[in-house]
Amino acid sequence: MSSVVVVGEVDGNEVKDVSQQVAAVAAGMGDVVGIVMGKNIAEAAMKLSTSKIIIAEDDTLENYDPVRFSSIVTQVVEQTNATRVLMGATTMGKDLGPRLAAELNWGYLGDCLEAGDEGFVRPNYAGKVLAKSNPTNPVVVSIRNNAYPAGESWSGTVENFSGNIPDSNLTTASIEKIGAGTVELTEANIVVSGGRGLESPENYEEHIRPLANALGAAAGASRAIVDAGWVPHSHQVGQTGKTVTPDLYLAIGISGAIQHLGGMSGSKFIVAINKDAEAPIFKVADYGIIGDLFEIVPVLKSKLDN
Ligand SMILES: Cc1cc2nc3c(=O)[nH]c(=O)nc-3n(C[C@H](O)[C@H](O)[C@H](O)COP(=O)(O)OP(=O)(O)OC[C@H]3O[C@@H](n4cnc5c(N)ncnc54)[C@H](O)[C@@H]3O)c2cc1C
Repeated sequence: MSSVVVVGEVDGNEVKDVSQQVAAVAAGMGDVVGIVMGKNIAEAAMKLSTSKIIIAEDDTLENYDPVRFSSIVTQVVEQTNATRVLMGATTMGKDLGPRLAAELNWGYLGDCLEAGDEGFVRPNYAGKVLAKSNPTNPVVVSIRNNAYPAGESWSGTVENFSGNIPDSNLTTASIEKIGAGTVELTEANIVVSGGRGLESPENYEEHIRPLANALGAAAGASRAIVDAGWVPHSHQVGQTGKTVTPDLYLAIGISGAIQHLGGMSGSKFIVAINKDAEAPIFKVADYGIIGDLFEIVPVLKSKLDN
């Protein structure tokens, strides 16, 4: 049976949901070895649901470092003779995956929606085409959040990483948490996004962020308001922004241009609030509220507060 390496990520004391989802997918593909890298992550790393877990813990691994992380995973691949590496299509996964594929001289399939013995399915052309690949050669794969249910948290056999952690000339100068307390967009179970219908950046702060906070959601945006400088690019959902696949996506004052849909149409439930009944967002929405967001959002927020 071939070996599969799963790159796990931790958040505080827990393994990220997306990593448990990836571990569950990998379980059907062969002998699964998890690798978790970081500083003070051992306790959380042991919860990764793979039958064997390798922990690379070191002060130099406190922040994601592409040189060190890709070298460690490469060494684990060589030690285990793996032919697949799977990880979440997180901010880290989207950087690490292609680097690792280049280092290993393997193929790369990013942002997959389906993965299994039958092959991998990933969206092309902003989600208009779903491409199926069944690579016979080794491949690095990143899988979107929420594409699969998470595997149960459990402890497999645990080993410390026995290879070499290389020097790196990269240093993390600073880490800025944009909009303190917000959930990372690509990993959020609920996303509340606002668009040009909000009319001003002040209205985004007054209506979108509090609603997102009340729901424990990440706050997103259309490109129109990112380009207008209302919110940073890190909030942008769409073809040239982030791809999100939450359980619930609220589109507020967003028309639903094809480039926006490309980043959110894979959400499980889409709720749109728009005063224009003809807005294209209603074509993908599961629930649509035709009306003025300035009347509807405060009512929604007060219901949640109660
Ligand atoms: C190459 C390229 C890449 C792009 N990438 C992206 C991308 O990644 N993400 C993205 O979002 N866009 C992207 N765009 C831009 C995209 O084409 C649209 O211009 C953009 O999504 C529109 O943003 P919007 O829906 O906020 O604004 P608008 O299209 O102006 O829509 C505003 C909506 O708000 C509604 N509205 C107004 N007032 C109210 C009110 N009081 N109550 C309720 N509803 C109200 C209106 O009816 C309207 O439907 C890209 C474009 C190009 C060309």
